[in-house]
Amino acid sequence: MAAAAAAAVSVSSRSLATTNAETHRHDRLTKSSHFYRIKTQLKPYPSLCGRRPNRTAHGLSSLRLIPSAVSSGGNPSVPFAFDDVDKPRDECGVVGIIGDPDAAKLCSLALHALQHRGQEGAGIVCSDGTTIRSATGLGLVSEVFHDPRTLAPLKGDSAIGHVRYSTAGAASALANVQPFLAGYRFGKLAVAHNGNLVNYRRLRFDLESRGSIFNTSSDTEVILHLIATSSSRPLLSRVVEACESIEGAYSLVFLTENKLFAVRDPHGFRPLVMGRRRPNGAIVFASETCALDLINAEFEREVNPGEVLVVDGQDMSITSACLMPEKPRKACVFEHVYFALPNSVVFGHPVHASRYTFGAALARESPVPGADFVIPVPDSGFFAALGFAEASGIPFQQGLIRSHYVGRTFIEPDKEGRNLAVKLKLAPVRTILEGKSVVVVDDSIVRGTTSSKIVNLIKTAGGAREVHMRIASPPIVGSCYYGVDTPSSEELISNRMNVEGVRQEIGCDSLAFLSLDSLRGAFADESHMFCDACFTRNYPVPPTEQEAVKLTEV
Ligand code: SF4
Repeated sequence: MAAAAAAAVSVSSRSLATTNAETHRHDRLTKSSHFYRIKTQLKPYPSLCGRRPNRTAHGLSSLRLIPSAVSSGGNPSVPFAFDDVDKPRDECGVVGIIGDPDAAKLCSLALHALQHRGQEGAGIVCSDGTTIRSATGLGLVSEVFHDPRTLAPLKGDSAIGHVRYSTAGAASALANVQPFLAGYRFGKLAVAHNGNLVNYRRLRFDLESRGSIFNTSSDTEVILHLIATSSSRPLLSRVVEACESIEGAYSLVFLTENKLFAVRDPHGFRPLVMGRRRPNGAIVFASETCALDLINAEFEREVNPGEVLVVDGQDMSITSACLMPEKPRKACVFEHVYFALPNSVVFGHPVHASRYTFGAALARESPVPGADFVIPVPDSGFFAALGFAEASGIPFQQGLIRSHYVGRTFIEPDKEGRNLAVKLKLAPVRTILEGKSVVVVDDSIVRGTTSSKIVNLIKTAGGAREVHMRIASPPIVGSCYYGVDTPSSEELISNRMNVEGVRQEIGCDSLAFLSLDSLRGAFADESHMFCDACFTRNYPVPPTEQEAVKLTEV
C-alpha cells in the first residue's frame, strides 16, 4: 500500500475515456458537472472505456431483493422503543469491514457500539468472495445475534451491517431491516443506508412507472434500483450515476462479492469514517469512531462529503471518486448536540468537548445565581452539565439516576406508557435534591412532554425547592428531513410558543436555551459547514416532498 502512488485521472461520465497510462498521471483535471475524479492506489483504475449499452437491455424489474437466509427472531414484539422518549431519533448506523476473516463477528460488535443510532432492527450481509449471505432481525443487536447460529453462516472476510430506527408502523416490517441484498443482471449487491432522501417519492414514481417493482417502503431501495438500471460500466460508475440522482442525506456502504463501497452525500450531512484494524490492516467504515475503537481499528480519516470509496477485496486497493456537482459542506450539528456518543469524534470534533463547550457557554449566557447544584439529565445532558458547573462554579451533582435495566417490551406507546417510561428511566435522589435550588441541564427540548415530567419528578419525588432548566441547544423550530426522525413542526413546542410559554408549559422556575451564536461559536470558523436547520429552518436541500408528507401526518 505504501508504494502506491496516488494517481489522479478524470473520467467523463459521457465518454469514459481513460487509459492505463493516464491513470499514472498525478494531475487533477478541472471538475465540471460532467466530470468526476478517480484517484487510485496500488494499481491503475481499470479503463472505463466502453460503449453505453442499450438502456432497454437493463429492465427495471431485473432487480430482485433477496430475503435474509437467516432471519433471527430478534424481538418482533417491541411495541415502543423505550429509550429517548421525546427526543429526535437518528435513523440508523452503518458499518463496513473488508480484509478480516472474522468480518461478520466484528461487524456485530461494531453495530453494538452504534446501538444508540437505532434499536428496532439490525442486520449483517457477509461475503466470502463468491457467496453473499445475510442475517437480519428485529430488536437490539444483542437480541438479533444472541444465538451463535445466526452469525455462524456468515462466513467471509467482508461484511456490511446496519442498525435501524424507523418511524412507527414500518418498524415491525422485517422486510425493511437493512442491509438490503439484491440480485440483478451483474450479480449481487447489498446496501446499508444512514440518512434520508428528499426526492425519494419522485424517483420511486419514475422507476415504478417504468415497471420497477419495490419490495419495501424504504427510500434506500430506490438506490438499488437506480444502480440496477444504470447503463454505465463498471459498478463504480453505476454507483456514481445513482448517487448523483438522489438528493438529501446519505452515508452508504455497499457490498458485492469482492468489493466494499462507502459513499457520503455531497453535503456530508451524516457522519462516515474510515479506519484500519490492527494488526491485519482490515479496512473499516462506520458511522462513528466509537465503533472503530471497539474493534481495534485506528481512525484514518472521514469519508469526504461527496466521496465514493471502493476497496477491492482481492488486493485491498482503494479507489476514490467524487460525486458531482460539489456542494457546500453541511454536517448535522445535532450529532454533537445529542445523537453521537460522547466518546466519538464526529466531523473532526470530539463530541464530549462540544457538549462541554455548549454547557459552559450556557452558564455564561444564562447564569442561575444562588443555585445549590447543577444536575444533568442523564445521559445526554452529562457533559453540558459539567461545562455549566465548571463555568458557573456551582457544584455538579447526580440528582437523577438513569436506570439501564428497563425492559423494552412491556411499555405501550400511549400517554400512560410514556409517563411510566420517564419514571422507570429516571429516579430522583431525594437526599441531594430536597429543599435545594437546582439547575437541570438537558441537551434539547422537542415536544416538551418529557421535560415537564422531569421537572415534576424533581419537584415532587425529589423535593427540590426550585428547578431552573438550562438547555444546551437553541429552541428546535423545524423538522429534520435528512435522516433524523423529528415530529412535524406543528408538534415542536418551541415552534408553537416563546421561551416563557415553554417555561409555563413544563412548569420550571426559569428556562433558557443556548443561543444560536454560541452553538455556532463552538465550531469557530467551521460553523458554516454545519447544518442547523432544525434551529433556523435554513434547509440546505429543499425538503418539499417530506414536508408535504409530515403535514398530512399531523
Ligand atoms: Fe441535523 Fe437538524 Fe440539520 Fe436534521 S435539520 S441534519 S437534525 S441539524
